[in-house]
Amino acid sequence: MLKKGGGLDTPVQFLKGIGPKRAALLAKLGIETVGQLLFHVPKRYVDRSKTLPIRRLAPGDEVTVFGRIAATGSRRTKTYKQLVSCLVRDESGMIEAVWFGRPDLKDRFRTGQEIMVSGKVTLYRQKQFVNPSFELLEQNNEFSGTGAIIPVYPLTEGFSVWNMRRAMRTALGKYLSLVPETLTREILRHYDFPDIRTALETIHFPKDVDSALRGRERLVYDELFYLELVLALRRQRYAEIRKGTRLAQTGELTDPFCKRLKFTLTRAQERVVSEILGDMGQEKCMNRLLQGDVGSGKTVVALYAMLVACENRAQAAMMAPTEILAIQNFQAWAQTLADIEVNARILTGSTRQAERREILEGLEAGSVRMIFGTHALIEEGVKFSKLGLVVVDEQHRFGVMQRAALLNKGLNPDFLVMTATPIPRTLTLTVYGDLDVSVLDEKPPGRKPVKTQVVPESRRDKVYGFIEQRIEAGEQAFIVCPIIEESEKLDLVSAIQTYEKAQVAFPNRRVGMVHGRMKSSERGELMDRFRRKELDILVATTVIEVGVDVPGATVMVIEHPERFGLAQLHQLRGRIGRGKRSSYCILFVSRPGLGESSERLKFFAGTTDGFALAEKDMELRGPGEILGTRQHGLPDLRVADIVQDKDVLTQARQDAFRLVELDPALERPENAFVRTTLKSRYSGREELLRVG
Ligand code: ADP
Ligand code: MG
Repeated sequence: MLKKGGGLDTPVQFLKGIGPKRAALLAKLGIETVGQLLFHVPKRYVDRSKTLPIRRLAPGDEVTVFGRIAATGSRRTKTYKQLVSCLVRDESGMIEAVWFGRPDLKDRFRTGQEIMVSGKVTLYRQKQFVNPSFELLEQNNEFSGTGAIIPVYPLTEGFSVWNMRRAMRTALGKYLSLVPETLTREILRHYDFPDIRTALETIHFPKDVDSALRGRERLVYDELFYLELVLALRRQRYAEIRKGTRLAQTGELTDPFCKRLKFTLTRAQERVVSEILGDMGQEKCMNRLLQGDVGSGKTVVALYAMLVACENRAQAAMMAPTEILAIQNFQAWAQTLADIEVNARILTGSTRQAERREILEGLEAGSVRMIFGTHALIEEGVKFSKLGLVVVDEQHRFGVMQRAALLNKGLNPDFLVMTATPIPRTLTLTVYGDLDVSVLDEKPPGRKPVKTQVVPESRRDKVYGFIEQRIEAGEQAFIVCPIIEESEKLDLVSAIQTYEKAQVAFPNRRVGMVHGRMKSSERGELMDRFRRKELDILVATTVIEVGVDVPGATVMVIEHPERFGLAQLHQLRGRIGRGKRSSYCILFVSRPGLGESSERLKFFAGTTDGFALAEKDMELRGPGEILGTRQHGLPDLRVADIVQDKDVLTQARQDAFRLVELDPALERPENAFVRTTLKSRYSGREELLRVG
């Protein structure tokens, strides 16, 4: 990097035409230096020469039009909403644009001004734009010489597209020659990418949309290539530094285990087991993420791996986020493991002192070879004789530190994290990109997909009647609510109220309730009673979300489903449909067809594919919120959008990983260039390059 004052790290405020005030606005966009400004890339482009004449617009069209303001006005509607209107005219005709609740606009529009309006054409007496986005174009058209393509930038209030263009023009004029090339000639040639300076020039002042998009793609590739390079290097170093023990399958314990299994493994389970055993059999440490939808049978896969560790005279630990889950994992398998000599035990916060002491001694001496538990496993007093494998269930519930704490109890144990939250592929390629990934993409046979329906509140009686029938047939039901106490503000039905109502609606049935403010022992007790069929209906908050297994439950009613994200709804629904009988998920909505949330619920009702739901979730919420690259110790992405640019991502990843495979230390002369770029890009942030 060049020295301050003159280089790309010159603060934007020193650019001609940008003082402290405008610099503060730019800072809101994350732009502090000239370099960052140059890499602030338009979201899209509008080609003026291709826009429709106003006369030809049809209702439903999503368009951008150019015209002059023929008249402006403001008034209140019948419902007392502020409305600002503006009549836009081009050579062919006129259209009205209106904005609700934006009284500030009144003073911004002037008759005769040129304006660009983008939005959907609707019909209200006549053709109209409602709350469209717009840009006022400068009267003295100083950019008339720059062609018909208008870049649309991510902007902030008070900083117009024209401010942006002017700043860009100045910055390019003075600083473009300082921008260093970052991709090798080979890559540029291979993808036919423009060099960096041409790319930036075309991105900001394009002659045509195609070449602008080409330029953008180059920057996207560039950014993702270096991100993936960091991941590839990290993974490489994991393998080198963390030399573990070779744990190979002998069959001593796994054979009797397989004989005792009441089912045969699915093909997906077999495949994943062999992927895991492949890792464990090598000297390097396993570092693997196992993804499998709820009910896909992750536990048996983990047990298999744990037994392999035990066969090698090592110990294996499985940590679950809650006591309920730890106990469930343990109990479900205690029978099967009973006469296999691993002395499997469970350790949680409520394990009694005497037993706890005995378990700790057993772990330290090596006589307890397999341990299940909660956070209790990472407490100070817990010592292992030889911990060979750590399994963490529902990994998103644990922080990085907690995982590390358990790993540190062994000498570089193999590591398997499991999650039932399907992670979109784009994320497994980025924030989880330094882990190996296994996927259980097949459910055990005989499961019927849960039937899901969005039902209006008004049909509650019908639904209750249906539940009554199911209970009569020996089945059970969940009723799930988003919170536990009445909040007038949010107008939610609280669990307590729902519980009381359910008791009234089902006078002859046994209704129970669990929520997050109960003691976990009390909650566990109730869950147990439900599992033992001593309760017919369980009213619950989202505490039942993770992993709980009640095969008899076939109905789930979700109150206020619009309050839940897709991923969470999916987790909830995964609690039913675990047996052989048909299951039903009912989403109660007060008013059907309510904008974004109704699209979301409809999508949810239409698929049980967790990955499809995860992708959709990311699409709806945007990757930014979910991505959190910083948290994962990775750089922010400025240009690339991993959803939109997923093809480039895949390509860049392949290229980066291949490069590291061929030249792990980046020491070949032809890669010197990449090495320098990597270093300069992370200068001052070397910690990002270090092993995670
Ligand atoms: P999850 O992936 O949600 O943790 P579990 O491991 O709890 O799923 O498995 C769900 C249920 O499916 C358990 O009751 C388990 O015994 C059963 N199961 C697992 N694998 C198979 C299989 N191959 N065939 C039949 N049932 C299976
Ligand atoms: Mg599980």
